[in-house]
Amino acid sequence: MNKVSILGVKFDAITKQEAVQRAMEAIRQGKKGYVVTPNSEIVYMARNNPQLKKLLNAATLVLSDGIGIVHAAKILKKPLTEKVAGIEFAADLIAEMEKEGRSLFLFGAKPGVAQKAAENLKKKHPNLIINGCRDGYFKSEEQAVQDINAAGHSDVILVCLGAPKQEIFMNTHIDELNGTLLCGLGGSLDVYAG
Ligand code: UDP
Repeated sequence: MNKVSILGVKFDAITKQEAVQRAMEAIRQGKKGYVVTPNSEIVYMARNNPQLKKLLNAATLVLSDGIGIVHAAKILKKPLTEKVAGIEFAADLIAEMEKEGRSLFLFGAKPGVAQKAAENLKKKHPNLIINGCRDGYFKSEEQAVQDINAAGHSDVILVCLGAPKQEIFMNTHIDELNGTLLCGLGGSLDVYAG
């Protein structure tokens, strides 16, 4: 796989379409993993944080969210194919998921936001299965995992807690979460909620 290292964070040099294809393959094969979309701040943070760098590099897909990353790659003469913004990747992934009647769980943001996002997504994608949603403010991570798993198996779980909280959450709980692909997508639920 073609990777481009920016300060030790290894980005996938792929287009949005390729990223979606790879995500769909993982879903079809039931191959567990997570997707990260680090911006320049997170890459900078990871520079002096080997643990964070390790968990970013352990992702199924490391997408170059933020034009700063694309510019850095250019300066290093290791160009990335294009900027793959997390929210745009998710929009295309959800459209593909709908074609196959795949299931989604929305996790994160303030109370009520994920529900509103679910309503809007359902209007736009009637054949998408939304298993459930949960806000991103919880007493314990174990409780949050239990709540997500109570909805049954989800092909994709959007984990929207902001970075690096969501990346740490995905890496820590991937084995116990009842989902195939976890996607760390920051403030996306606020956008979907409108
Ligand atoms: N958030 C959350 N739980 C937390 C902290 C933040 O669910 O403990 C949510 C917050 O409500 C917002 C999102 O995470 O919806 C963070 O969005 P932001 O745009 O700040 O994150 P970024 O995309 O910059 O990582």
